Amino acid sequence: MKLFDEHVLLRFLLLVASVLISALLYSCSDGFSLKEFVVVFSISVLCNLFLLYVALFYGFPRSNKEKKIRNDVGEPQLQPAEPSRDYKKDYQEKNELFQMMIDVSAEGFWTFDVPTGKVFWSKKVAQLLGVDPSQIDDSFELLRSRVVTQDWDAFRVALNEIFNQKSHNFSITLRLLHKQDVSFMISGRVQCGEDGRPIRVIGALSEKVDRKILEKRNSYYDYQDALTGLGSRRFFLEKLKVDIDVAAQRPDYVFGVALIDIDSFGAINDSYSISVGDDVLRIVGERIKSSCGEYDFCARIDPDVFAVLFHGVKSSDPNLELQNIVSRMHGKIKMPIQIDGKELYISASMAVVLSKDVDCVEDVLASANVILRDLKKSGTHGGVQFFTGGVREKAMKLYRMEVDIRKAIQANEFMLMYQPIVDIQNGDRLVGFEALVRWNSAERGIISPADFIPLAEETGLIVPMGALILRMACEQTKKWVDMGFKDICVSVNFSAKQFALDSMKNDIMDVLNEVGLNPHNLKMEVTEYTAMCEAEKTLILMKELTDLGLRISIDDFGTGYSSLSYLKRYPVHTLKMDKSFIDHVTDDEEDAAFARMVIGIARSMNLDLIAEGVETRAQMEFLKREGCRNIQGFYFSKPLSPEDALEYMKAHYADEPETLPNEIRIA
Ligand code: C2E
Ligand code: CA
Ligand code: CA
Repeated sequence: MKLFDEHVLLRFLLLVASVLISALLYSCSDGFSLKEFVVVFSISVLCNLFLLYVALFYGFPRSNKEKKIRNDVGEPQLQPAEPSRDYKKDYQEKNELFQMMIDVSAEGFWTFDVPTGKVFWSKKVAQLLGVDPSQIDDSFELLRSRVVTQDWDAFRVALNEIFNQKSHNFSITLRLLHKQDVSFMISGRVQCGEDGRPIRVIGALSEKVDRKILEKRNSYYDYQDALTGLGSRRFFLEKLKVDIDVAAQRPDYVFGVALIDIDSFGAINDSYSISVGDDVLRIVGERIKSSCGEYDFCARIDPDVFAVLFHGVKSSDPNLELQNIVSRMHGKIKMPIQIDGKELYISASMAVVLSKDVDCVEDVLASANVILRDLKKSGTHGGVQFFTGGVREKAMKLYRMEVDIRKAIQANEFMLMYQPIVDIQNGDRLVGFEALVRWNSAERGIISPADFIPLAEETGLIVPMGALILRMACEQTKKWVDMGFKDICVSVNFSAKQFALDSMKNDIMDVLNEVGLNPHNLKMEVTEYTAMCEAEKTLILMKELTDLGLRISIDDFGTGYSSLSYLKRYPVHTLKMDKSFIDHVTDDEEDAAFARMVIGIARSMNLDLIAEGVETRAQMEFLKREGCRNIQGFYFSKPLSPEDALEYMKAHYADEPETLPNEIRIA
């Protein structure tokens, strides 16, 4: 607090000083001459006048500090006058602010102008409803087309009640037509004019977030597999990446990865039901988890593929340690599964990779996939295979092969060989051929289908390749029919991917029509697996094809699924007993019994039967004795070029007899 103003004090001191100076000059002026006295007196008067002026009228400057303090307090009279307001600018700014608020809001806004009938939607509405903002117009059409009909009706009723002044506001839940798990809350409030009649409805639209759904979305779908409760693919890849990074920094850190692929899982879904398939996956998941250590991480990374990350394998022999764990796990997975009183048997193929053999996530997956593919290709369903040095090279080789197959399709490098099918109950009469593809590569020579068909199937290249094969087989058969071999029947192999095509029936009809071949001369070979894929769709397709006069053969019969019920439903004409059952019919009683059983099935279901892969006279005689009619195998002939097939035909062909001797007819 200030007691006095220092400028007042200063002025007072100046006045005192001027009086003192005058008094001093008078006291000293006694000895002065007149002239000296006038000079001193004048000076004294001037000094006093000056001091008096300064003391009374001079405005001392204030220090900066002092000014600042004053300004802080504020001097209202010194404030500049308020500028004149620009109302147009104000309105514009308010509008912009309003628009910004609408844009940043998590809610969408809408207004309905009653006199014009126009609707305004904020951009957020488009985002919430999942449409492009350009689709927004000034009507309710957008909403009507996106929401469930009952909800749209409820909204209309609520709006009408507002117009009829029965209510002032509403709030309704809307469900989206195409995304039933998302719902919205739309609210509206009326704005009335001076006469009390509605002029506008203003409302908001916001997503209704169900906490449970949100949690499920966030955790389950991102990091947890909802079906099995194990980790998700994403979680597995993230964890794998961490382990790879750790192993790169610490050479003593060893981890292992196992990929577990349930064999022929599609068939379980098809022959039982999707819910049984789900139960199987859950049970397999539990079995895998219970075979792992506390710190190992289990995930389901594809519909029927599980993965285990064995963190920090401690043993001095990691290979051996993992071998013990995975073989225990494998044994557990294969145990019979009881569901709804049924006993199901499954097998699983396993690929195991150790950290020392891989550098990155892609490496782990590519190597494990090559192993799994290898296991399936070699027919070793249910095998366990560890990564070996050759796996990476194999992966590269497969990649090159894929590129080459694409080129080969363009360059027409595929050709067909024809293996005779012989009726042994009827003088070894030739009844037909199986068309078997070969790749006549300009670079590698003749390549066996076993080396490229699985890859072509996996990559989908089998579709264009299959179309080529069908056309070649039909053209060749037509030539033979025109030569007089009118009943010759050529079997063509079809893969599941071809069968899955919607255009399949039309594609076949087009080829038959263009070539001018009678469907009676063509047979389709499909495996049990193909027949069971998308069972209902395949069944319809098969019926359409057989209605056209085509015949269908089940290839590799006996290697697929135990369920025979499908044979009753499907319009199947022929069973081909797999070579693996023929190989030991003469020296293994079990195989002989199985062959007899298959012959019995074909007989009781009135189906033709072909035994394939017959190599010896003893096998042929066994089958003949047991009543099997048709044989395909090296015993009679290897697959032949079209020219050699023609020669074979000339020597062994005979038209179909009108009726067959009763004792050998399988019926
Ligand atoms: P697949 O359909 O089971 O064909 C029978 C295979 O057994 C043929 O092998 C045939 O040469 C062989 N084979 C026949 N008799 C004997 C025998 O007495 N002993 C032995 N050791 N083998 C015999 P190939 O031609 O190598 O075909 C292998 C597989 O490749 C076929 O098995 C089929 O699954 C596939 N394949 C062949 N051609 C085609 C095709 O045009 N399209 C499709 N999708 N797959 C094809
Ligand atoms: Ca076949
Ligand atoms: Ca076969």
